[in-house]
Amino acid sequence: MIEVSNLKKSYGKLDVLKQISFTVNRNDVVAVIGPSGSGKSTMLRGLVHLEEVDGGSIQVADHYLVKDGVYSSPPQIRQITSRMGMVFQHFNLFPHLTVKENLELAPRLVKKESAAEIKSRSTDLLEKVGLIDRANAYPANLSGGQKQRVAIARALMMNPEIMLFDEPTSALDPELTGEVLQVMKKLAEEHMTMIVVTHEMGFAKEVANQVLFMDNGEMIESGSPAELFTKPKFERTKAFLNRDR
Ligand code: ADP
Ligand code: MG
Repeated sequence: MIEVSNLKKSYGKLDVLKQISFTVNRNDVVAVIGPSGSGKSTMLRGLVHLEEVDGGSIQVADHYLVKDGVYSSPPQIRQITSRMGMVFQHFNLFPHLTVKENLELAPRLVKKESAAEIKSRSTDLLEKVGLIDRANAYPANLSGGQKQRVAIARALMMNPEIMLFDEPTSALDPELTGEVLQVMKKLAEEHMTMIVVTHEMGFAKEVANQVLFMDNGEMIESGSPAELFTKPKFERTKAFLNRDR
């Protein structure tokens, strides 16, 4: 589904991504772990073209977003990124729009569907994330966990084939992380292909089928949760897992 090879990016003299390579198969749930500043967000933002990389390739299904550092045409890029939905740490909801309006805005702008179709999907998705009773509320009147569930529903409105999450629970009070992880777990059970940058090791162990460990711009190792958490091959992975405990 996604093939990343030799991805490179620098900010001035700082090499943020150093020859990052990995593969995501259809229906995979990939957890990306690693210390702060290791390049996890930059890598994820590169996949959806919120950042441009300096070298390497990103292939989604049979299409290249970037091949050996050369980007495809803007329409091809839009075609590829429209297959992906992204959820950020800080929700990024539109504060002046209600929950329902947040969900319906992007599909309405694309204008390929009737208002009735869009409305019916927003109703279904709000039911799915347990927020149908908050459809007319404004983001300011929601808890962090509710806001993040709205953000997930909003991303799903565009019918993505791949969902990317960048520390979706890091900004939440601990008692609110469970409701968000539950929604993500449900998506995984429905076989959504997902890449999740997370500090929630419990979620990674339980839900992911592949874990990637990044440190200092490098992809240090990858494996099943059983392999990576119980038999890490590299000292840096061991040190990170021990520190995190
Ligand atoms: P992570 O998500 O793993 O914490 P990031 O991808 O956010 O790591 O950042 C990796 C490195 O790149 C950090 O050292 C960070 O300070 C740097 N960085 C990120 N964005 C920028 C930017 N826009 N300009 C300069 N440096 C940046
Ligand atoms: Mg980050």
